[in-house]
Amino acid sequence: MKRIITALLLLAFMALPSCTEGRAEVYSVSITAMDTSCTVTVYGEDNKAAADACKELLLGIEAELSVTLSGSKVYALNTGGKVETGTHLKAVAEKAIGIKSITDGAFEPCIYPLVKLWGFTTGDNRVPSSKAITEAVGLVNNSVLKVSGNTVSITDGMVDFGGITKGYAADMLAEELKGAGVEAAVISLGGNIKTLGSKPNGKPWNIGISSPDGGGKLLGTLAVGECAVVTSGSYIRNFTENGKLYHHIIDPRTGYPADNGLVSVTVVCDDAAMADGLTTAFFVMGMEKASSLAKALGVDTVFVTDDCIYVSAGLKEKFTPDDSTRDEYSVIYN
Ligand code: AMP
Ligand code: MG
Repeated sequence: MKRIITALLLLAFMALPSCTEGRAEVYSVSITAMDTSCTVTVYGEDNKAAADACKELLLGIEAELSVTLSGSKVYALNTGGKVETGTHLKAVAEKAIGIKSITDGAFEPCIYPLVKLWGFTTGDNRVPSSKAITEAVGLVNNSVLKVSGNTVSITDGMVDFGGITKGYAADMLAEELKGAGVEAAVISLGGNIKTLGSKPNGKPWNIGISSPDGGGKLLGTLAVGECAVVTSGSYIRNFTENGKLYHHIIDPRTGYPADNGLVSVTVVCDDAAMADGLTTAFFVMGMEKASSLAKALGVDTVFVTDDCIYVSAGLKEKFTPDDSTRDEYSVIYN
């Protein structure tokens, strides 16, 4: 909580100077929101105001959907059990309920008792006792999230839309930019990227997939058109206790961080909220189940284990491994 409040107090708006790429003017705006460094880049001279307006929209989404800010709708839902939706809560809750259903519960919007127990929103990370985990698993699995008209309610338990909010925000920002007449843009919210239109120089957008090793290293790049490219990984938020790494994507059935050999999952599709929810769910499901669900849903994926990068058939021509990863990973197209 303290960390998030501090981040909010230090909200850093940074308007990067304009520059030109090819013949089009490029303008980027950055802000820290949702505990994440967010950047919106627009092409075209007249689009600075539209990019600047994204800051307010992002802060509005955070103010409504944050699980820790005491003025948020989600906070009110978790403390009161029922709340009238604001601008975003109903849409996000409906999306989350839908993704829970198609992933057979691997994506669990009522996960907050477990996330809180592991300290992932407070920064007070520790391995909980097995008794506490069993109790929280019971609570999570008994919780029912419902949307009825404009009312969102939960029986027992607490929601946490952290696994979908950034993707949802990317979709909202893309709509805002489109509405303002922007024809080419890249929205980058942590591992959630959404591209708008096509690059003015006629080339595809090159979206990097981060290496789990960190340090700004890339596993490779995806050359794509207008779409969402969303990545979740165990390297993004974690802590180590007694030499074992514990990360923030929790299997709602066991109450422990998912542990199935995956280190990162990327989903490529049109809808960033769906891609965000699916990356979280796929990480929990493990590669075999996740890849057959991805095929059934018609979304493309990149699954990464300690030594392999599995790229789905639809991305075969679009993925280029980084030179530095060729020695460390085998790239398998499936
Ligand atoms: P992401 O980085 O998009 O995978 O989101 C991870 C965040 O989603 C965590 O920090 C939690 O807030 C939340 N979360 C963790 N496990 C789950 C789960 N099984 N289902 C839904 N949300 C989850
Ligand atoms: Mg997610």
